[in-house]
Amino acid sequence: MSANAKKRVGILGATGTVGQRVIHLLRNHPYFEVAALAASDRSEGKRFVEACNWKLPYEMPEAVKDIKVQAIKPPLDCDVVISSLPSDIALEVEGAFAAAGYPVISNSSSYRMHEDVPLVVPEINPDHLDLIAVQKKNRGYDKGYIVTNPNCTTIGLVLALAPLQQVFGLEAVMMTSMQAISGAGYPGVASMDIIDNVMPHIGGEEEKVEEEPQKIMGKLGAGKIEIAPFKVSAQCNRVPVQDGHLESVRVKLSKSATIEEVAAALSAFTGLPQELKLPTAPARPVIVRTEKDRPQPRLDRDAEGGMATVVGRISKDTIFDFKFTLISHNTVRGAAGAALLNAELLVAKGLL
Ligand code: NAP
Repeated sequence: MSANAKKRVGILGATGTVGQRVIHLLRNHPYFEVAALAASDRSEGKRFVEACNWKLPYEMPEAVKDIKVQAIKPPLDCDVVISSLPSDIALEVEGAFAAAGYPVISNSSSYRMHEDVPLVVPEINPDHLDLIAVQKKNRGYDKGYIVTNPNCTTIGLVLALAPLQQVFGLEAVMMTSMQAISGAGYPGVASMDIIDNVMPHIGGEEEKVEEEPQKIMGKLGAGKIEIAPFKVSAQCNRVPVQDGHLESVRVKLSKSATIEEVAAALSAFTGLPQELKLPTAPARPVIVRTEKDRPQPRLDRDAEGGMATVVGRISKDTIFDFKFTLISHNTVRGAAGAALLNAELLVAKGLL
């Protein structure tokens, strides 16, 4: 794709934790360029550099500094919208953009479980994008549509579950998370609550992790997803880590396997983004480490630019079949990078 054919991206929630990551990942992108930025009325009308409390350890790209922040309503001068709005307002706003003819790629939870909305991890279920046609028909959208990516805890988990489901079949999953504070946005959890502490509750998180994997790993039938039949039990905790969600996982498989076979299935996992060499695709979506004390947030969250799930400590479980620990970067693979990979897949499929 030549530079002057770049698609123009509008970012909703551009000043937020995920919005900033999207802006960072879009610098020098071969398919996309930032064209419009939108946020709350606190930011509206200001230059982005004045509105945004930039928190990434990289410079704010020059190209966005002077863009005037707009309201989160159509029209925006762009070809596609990437949304990272709080879920309570995303339902109305994303629906309005789709109805106004914009493809919307959403990080919010509002539409993820709607039957006619694809919930896509490109390595696992790129075929679910066929639901776009059903959605357009159901909702009377012309050119617009909504595609979602999963919750930041779900996505790290499903990248490890999908290879196991494909090779051995999956019966049941138990997952306990230790989630980073950046997952709560900015300013997020009060320092008085998280320093020297662990918060054993993240509103709505366990419910999302218990239902999203079965949709992502379900089969697309006649215009509808057949939800995969395995059960997930999740317990989610907030811990004093900046970025990266660590997850302790136990799985029950349909077929017997050895530790080596489980590790080999995880390491061998690739999908369409790798085949198509999409710009944001990690070469290895799942990396298996064999050291006793890995993965760790600080050492492993940035593997493959933050786009890989790193798995370690694979061993036999005394109640389920296997247990392991994984880490996934919540604002990259869990949000901004996931949305961008979906956008790249939509371009590759001629849907954008
Ligand atoms: P955040 O840091 O709190 O940012 C929220 C963004 O939304 C800001 O740009 C804010 O604009 C804007 N906003 C807030 N209220 C608004 C309103 N009433 N009208 C218009 N704009 C409004 O949150 P975040 O962490 O980026 O999360 C954004 C979304 O992504 C949420 O749905 C979250 O669940 C999801 N998500 C987050 C992560 C993560 O790791 N953080 C991962 C996956 C998914 P102002 O700056 O103008 O207030």
